[in-house]
Amino acid sequence: MSGVGKGVSTASLGTILQAKGFRISLMKADPYLNVDAGTMNPTEHGEVFVMDSGLETDQDMGNYERFLNKNLPAENYMTNGMVFKYVIDKERALGYKGKCVEPTYHITEEILRRIELAVRINDADITIIEVGGTAGEYQNAIFLEAARQLKIKHPKDVIFVMVSYLPVPGKLGEMKTKPTQNAVRQMNSYGVHPDFIIARSENSVDKKRKEKIANMCGVLMEHVISAPDVNSIYDVPLNFEKDGLSKEILNFFELKSKQNHLKPWRDMVLKAHSAKGELKIAIVGKYFTTGDYMLSDAYISVIEALKASSIDLGIKLSLDWKDSVVYERDRKQLKELSDYDGILIPGGFGSTGIEGMISTITYAREKKIPYFGLCYGMQLMVIEYARNVLGLSRATSHEIDPSSSTQIITLMHDQKMKLKQKDYGASMRLGAYPCSVAKETLAYRAYKQEKILERHRHRYEVNPEFVGDLEKAGLVFSGKSPDGILMEIAELSQKVHPFFLGTQFHPEFLARPLSPHPLFSEFLRSALKK
Ligand code: GLN
Repeated sequence: MSGVGKGVSTASLGTILQAKGFRISLMKADPYLNVDAGTMNPTEHGEVFVMDSGLETDQDMGNYERFLNKNLPAENYMTNGMVFKYVIDKERALGYKGKCVEPTYHITEEILRRIELAVRINDADITIIEVGGTAGEYQNAIFLEAARQLKIKHPKDVIFVMVSYLPVPGKLGEMKTKPTQNAVRQMNSYGVHPDFIIARSENSVDKKRKEKIANMCGVLMEHVISAPDVNSIYDVPLNFEKDGLSKEILNFFELKSKQNHLKPWRDMVLKAHSAKGELKIAIVGKYFTTGDYMLSDAYISVIEALKASSIDLGIKLSLDWKDSVVYERDRKQLKELSDYDGILIPGGFGSTGIEGMISTITYAREKKIPYFGLCYGMQLMVIEYARNVLGLSRATSHEIDPSSSTQIITLMHDQKMKLKQKDYGASMRLGAYPCSVAKETLAYRAYKQEKILERHRHRYEVNPEFVGDLEKAGLVFSGKSPDGILMEIAELSQKVHPFFLGTQFHPEFLARPLSPHPLFSEFLRSALKK
């Protein structure tokens, strides 16, 4: 079933094999027909993760980069949409020279071409490819067919790992293996037989169950890996190691481990377990709900970035989600925010809950509660300042009111053209851009360098026409594009506020457990002081 942790399993397998001294590349094949994840609502697919290249991808790519502690190229991500579009465009251009173009030859050929290209670009010893979706659905069948062909092409170089869930029905209290047996049978019907089974369950899988799975599913018992529920996903690589997964995989490939360097990861996990105290952070935004369930998945990189810095500081983190619409309806509710050590407003789109977010920012500014704004959270911070300090009471963003004459946040010329042409896909300002950080600012104090590279995903910008007035009124633009035109970081001097800072970019995409992001760490340090 979905949500059992294929992404985290893939990433964790990457971590343990990387620790053995191999160059690892992680890839994802997503079954949907969107060309990228950029046009999807977060309620549909969780967070849209942006890579250095600007490709808008699935949140699993974020886990891959966090677990490997490195940037991955765009070639490591493909969707059915991308593959089909390529093949159909090629067919329209007579690229197949009159041949009948067929899914099980030309589409799979294109999938394999992408895999082989990614292997070369990453210069990888081992590539782990996660196939999205679940066993038995139509959507990912073409990827499984490509996988079957890959094994035929390179029999000694390809293994299959299945991640399966073993339920423990409440009334029975016993772990059941039948769904896994059926899933294996289903995979067999595609011509794919798992060599390893990662057995996800509430508890560890005991010897008896391992024997049964091995027997019924036709895998070696040592290849059944126990993957119990954990409090933190960062425990997973250590659990895999405990069950001998990397050793077994290297044996299978007849490879010898070159080193054993899991210590930094292990130390980080131990540090997380021994964290003390409590730092209370409120994340104020739009709630993303589906039915009765709330999807914090939409902000996964923000959560992981906060976690990484809190682990580094040795302090326990307590996150609360606050719906800004509540503050919009009743400003008195803002008072509850005084209980928090820090307030964060993440990225977002549209006008729902905007006034509540702006009131939140006023509250944080006046009460001197550390405030961190990401993308939209920065744009709204600038609007708040324009309204309440500069005195432009109608200050707003083009996104909220396209006809306003006080668009503090506006569209640059190239974006105006794109919107006119209804060019919405992959057309925002996307990916890594350089930024110059001004010395003697809060941002510089965090980064300790003048040249940084950060990832973006937005259409609107601080309007250059208002920058002079905002600066005169005390807002500091401590980060700008190298040509000085685009405002990338806004802050208040620490003489007036302990931490009041927003970034036009998304620093959360570059925060990793083994290298926490300096801005998140600086934010939490201020929160800790409060
Ligand atoms: N909606 C804003 C823009 O497009 C901010 C985007 C974001 O927060 N990622 O500019």
